[in-house]
Amino acid sequence: MTSRMNKLYAYLDNNNMDAMLITSPKHVYYLTGFATDPHERFLGLLLAKGEEAVLLLPALDFEAAQAASSVKNIHAHSDTDDAIEILSKLMPRGIRNLGVEKEDLSVQRFEAISAAVEATTYVDIGSPLREMRAIKTADEVARMKRAALIVEDVLRLGVSKVKPGVTEIELVAELEYQMKKLGAQGPSFETMVLSGAKSALPHGTPDNRKVAEGELLLFDLGVYADGYASDITRTFAVGDISDEIKGIYGAVLDANLKAIEAIRPGVTFGSLDRAARESIESAGYGPYFNHRLGHGLGMDIHEYPSIHGRNEDLLLAGMVFTVEPGIYVPSVGGVRIEDDVLVTQDGVEVLTSFSKQLTVIG
Ligand code: MN
Ligand code: MN
Repeated sequence: MTSRMNKLYAYLDNNNMDAMLITSPKHVYYLTGFATDPHERFLGLLLAKGEEAVLLLPALDFEAAQAASSVKNIHAHSDTDDAIEILSKLMPRGIRNLGVEKEDLSVQRFEAISAAVEATTYVDIGSPLREMRAIKTADEVARMKRAALIVEDVLRLGVSKVKPGVTEIELVAELEYQMKKLGAQGPSFETMVLSGAKSALPHGTPDNRKVAEGELLLFDLGVYADGYASDITRTFAVGDISDEIKGIYGAVLDANLKAIEAIRPGVTFGSLDRAARESIESAGYGPYFNHRLGHGLGMDIHEYPSIHGRNEDLLLAGMVFTVEPGIYVPSVGGVRIEDDVLVTQDGVEVLTSFSKQLTVIG
């Protein structure tokens, strides 16, 4: 926690910034170890040049923060206080350039802050936080491995409940129940179970549609464990499926494997997307792979980097992201195979280990 904050203090020095105010609960957690959801109440971590870090939070969080936060200079505001006025008093004099999380601050809150403090220039601090978060520490990787292990156990249990006639939403309920039973905090996004032609909707919504023989069944799910997300997709056959669908499955699996094979430090994200896309194009399904290859994964289910064909940024050891090619043929069905991967010093470690061979269930 301290080393993360030290990097931000160095960023202040190197970027002619007097202070920064961290307001997103995830980043307060990332920097102090104290996790809370303040809802609409104000939460802020103030790092000012040459000053000790200050945490300002709702009074009802005070005791929990004292126990968990590495920042011990903690100030509380009650529901009848003006939190922004307290913030302005905590701010050292002479702050001109203030770093803020532009992605997190509402316009309303920004206006209140800028009316109350001396600062005249507001600089976005999204990029140092994003770049720091992109490289996972051993502790973060351990949490992500646990999130992956739990979700794979959940998926195994969910698959065992599949039989013709069960509805998509019943399977979602079973999966989300098992997530908490198996030790996750909860789903990392809305669990997706899509059957038949609905599997061709990459962002479809599960409903009372019944699972039927001769169709595909797509599961896309993830959990949060110790603050970190997993995200996996597997597509199954319920009973016998057509040769056309088997061909689609094979093409997606090849694309998934080709992209993973290409992962190592120093190659571009774009090259991974292109490896998968060329594989799907050569199978004749190019137009049916209509989204990027994947996304960064960590405290957020979608975070930096975005794995698409025009991202020429380089992979670095310690990055974790998804590889999730898909082919979606309207009214026929869709297949997606999604893994979570860690870039290692010399290649890749795949965090998800659930079988990718076409499997008949139900
Ligand atoms: Mn997913
Ligand atoms: Mn994903």
